[in-house]
Amino acid sequence: MTSPDAIVIGSGPNGLAAAVTLARAGVSVRVYEREDTIGGGSRTSEVTLPGFHHDVCSAVHPMAYASEFFQRFGLTDRLDFVTPELSYGHPLDGGRAGLAWRSLDRTVDGLGDDGRAWRNLLQPLAEHADAVGQFTSTSLFRVPKHPFTLAKFGLRALEQGSPLWNARWKGDVAPAMLTGVLAHAIRPLPSFSPTAAGLVLATHAHAYGWPIPVGGSQGIVDVMAADVVAHGGEIITGHEVTSLRELPPSRAVMFDTSARGLERIAGNRLPATYAKALSRFSYGNAVAKVDFALSGPVPWSNADLAATGTLHLGGTRAEIAQAEQDVAQGRHPENPYVLVSQPSTFDPSRAPEGKHTLWAYTHVPAGSTEDRTEAITRQIERFAPGFRDVILASASKTAVEYERYNPNYIGGDIMAGDVDIRQLLARPVVSLQPWRTPLDGVYLCSSSTPPGPGVHGLPGWNAALLALKDVFGMTTAPSLAPDSVSQP
Ligand SMILES: Cc1cc2nc3c(=O)[nH]c(=O)nc-3n(C[C@H](O)[C@H](O)[C@H](O)COP(=O)(O)OP(=O)(O)OC[C@H]3O[C@@H](n4cnc5c(N)ncnc54)[C@H](O)[C@@H]3O)c2cc1C
Repeated sequence: MTSPDAIVIGSGPNGLAAAVTLARAGVSVRVYEREDTIGGGSRTSEVTLPGFHHDVCSAVHPMAYASEFFQRFGLTDRLDFVTPELSYGHPLDGGRAGLAWRSLDRTVDGLGDDGRAWRNLLQPLAEHADAVGQFTSTSLFRVPKHPFTLAKFGLRALEQGSPLWNARWKGDVAPAMLTGVLAHAIRPLPSFSPTAAGLVLATHAHAYGWPIPVGGSQGIVDVMAADVVAHGGEIITGHEVTSLRELPPSRAVMFDTSARGLERIAGNRLPATYAKALSRFSYGNAVAKVDFALSGPVPWSNADLAATGTLHLGGTRAEIAQAEQDVAQGRHPENPYVLVSQPSTFDPSRAPEGKHTLWAYTHVPAGSTEDRTEAITRQIERFAPGFRDVILASASKTAVEYERYNPNYIGGDIMAGDVDIRQLLARPVVSLQPWRTPLDGVYLCSSSTPPGPGVHGLPGWNAALLALKDVFGMTTAPSLAPDSVSQP
């Protein structure tokens, strides 16, 4: 086997984004993946019963349209997505529900007295979703191209991330619905960093919608891997890299590992000050997940919820804040926050005819070994009485099982590093180019770098552009467009 110009350790969406970018620039690339299949947090598999295709990690892709990497790659030209008209729904007791339609006007109409406050919060951001995407897709130390939108965004994040977060709301539906999005970041609420992350998602919900890939999230990494191979790259699965010494000679090495993985694999070759900075990078709380195979649709009390791709369960704003506080204090909440996706409603290929798959996870303390099947089932049953009767099978993954599945998820932290204010800036270290390490030709390209977690390929793209410039002397980004399509 000849030595490649560049090696990528890990075939998650970011490792493959780096590999695509390098291969498209004419650099010979080899990807090593420890598992027998590619994809990291973007795999689909029959984990319950034959014919039921479950997304093992990511399921819903707000960044499929918004990510600059995916726009350049033409992801939505290469793979079919379904974008539900209802981006997310939020059931409350008594059959009530908050409904976040892709249409802001329709959402506002459904929110009664709080419709205006919802519009004031999100319209200025949704109208400038490209600008929001621009300053949230790279290092926060870069000079923003849209300072006015950034200012509007920052003021809103400060307000909804502060103890004044209830001031603008009159009823309980709109604040609950917003809290469902802010809680994605697994941090206590109200606080700034989860609010900033949540506002980006809420902006995309009205600007682009929250798309679901037909066939499952595996399709995203499969089209990326196919592009790498079509441009001369190789992908070797079932090969865990444990040390830099074992790698064949190459000019660049891209780590799609957590910052801790970089520390372990590069070992004492890293300068002590950098190694110390990496060791200060902290990992957050975790998730525990359950995949369900169902004999029919979920019997939601509120019939509108049948048409939403994503749901946030947990009840009122105060209830969800309490659940997140419990997790932050190391407890498993009695009344947990649960994220649900019902992909087979929009994509019949996910389950045998008439049957359904349901994806659900909840937040737990880091390192939890607790199976949360019963807690998640109880919370769904609260808003969909009779849910238990449609369950054919379920498969659960605890937080520690997630770390075993993918060492990037330390203690079950699916973000590969806590998303607190410090680590919005120091991801994993304070630097204008945080993807570059002090070792010549060695880059970190995973979600331990900006802009952090999610399937968007942006850390991989940013790291690869830097490697192309530093190592290969190329200052122009290669075209990533599908070969038959020309790119401006
Ligand atoms: C339960 C769950 C639900 C999620 N839901 C969503 C969602 O709905 N939408 C969304 O956008 N994001 C979601 N995410 C987050 C998203 O999956 C991650 O942010 C994203 O996958 C990170 O991509 P990555 O390439 O940085 O790392 P990963 O996807 O973690 O990939 C890293 C890869 O590197 C491999 N690897 C690690 N160490 C080595 C080694 N030493 N040698 C060889 N290979 C190695 C791993 O096996 C893995 O394949 C979810 C994650 C989880 C776990």
